[in-house]
Amino acid sequence: MPAIAYVNGKFSLIEKAVVSVEDRGFQLGDGVYEVLRTYNGRLHAIEAHLRRLFRSLAAIELKHHFTAARLERLMREAVRRSGYRDALVYLQVTRGATKRMKEFPKGVPPTLVITARSLELSSRAARRRGVRIMTAKDVRWLRCDVKSVCLLPNVLAANKAKAAGCYEALFIAPDGTLTECASANIFIVKHGVVITPPKSANILAGITREEVIALARKHRIPLKERSITLKQLFAADEVFLTGTTTEVLPVVRVDNHRIANGKPGPVTQRLYELFLEHVG
Ligand code: PLP
Repeated sequence: MPAIAYVNGKFSLIEKAVVSVEDRGFQLGDGVYEVLRTYNGRLHAIEAHLRRLFRSLAAIELKHHFTAARLERLMREAVRRSGYRDALVYLQVTRGATKRMKEFPKGVPPTLVITARSLELSSRAARRRGVRIMTAKDVRWLRCDVKSVCLLPNVLAANKAKAAGCYEALFIAPDGTLTECASANIFIVKHGVVITPPKSANILAGITREEVIALARKHRIPLKERSITLKQLFAADEVFLTGTTTEVLPVVRVDNHRIANGKPGPVTQRLYELFLEHVG
């Protein structure tokens, strides 16, 4: 089955799709994006993703005429053309293609790219045994709530993690508290209470994070949104990650510290099961 791209009005095979060398996304990282997935052919949490996209567009003052209905239609069409039941959908909007300049160009239409391709999930073994992650200094900008395509610090940290045999890099703020991972949000469990850093400009408000918080509340699993120190992380009973493709994934090792007995814990397992029911 083919990976499909949509670029400014035209669908094609992904390898045939092109954007201008003058695109501001390419030259300046002047754009925002979303990553969604389907479950059995159905785009999951599409309203929440589109709400966050429109928030990101507003935050970077990118003027556009996109409507949620149109973007939804285009994403569905990309998925349909790809033929995948379990598809990964990427949507990017940039401030268009024009002569390179830092200030906003006038009268230049935005570039819209959507791709739909096969979804690669975490291995069953990783899910059963839990994963290792490593910490990294959070050197990102002060608007990590904006899902910007400027991802160089995430790229560098993720690459370091991969080279060290780790699933993810966990960013640590200058004050010693956890922010989030390169592509996922972080949670710990201590004495039966689920804890995750509060929403702020230092983290992306993950859609999966919100879903897990809502599930915990609905099922009366105690949950607090508060900052977490490295020391508290190492002393946690359980640690897990959330993200669109990560879903709910247990972490059993952080750097050289084993988390509790080194096995995925019951609260993480319960939340994963609730999450599967919720998306199923
Ligand atoms: N934090 C960062 C930096 C991310 O890039 C992502 C997703 O890619 C997440 C958190 C998780 O967000 P979501 O659950 O919306 O996929």
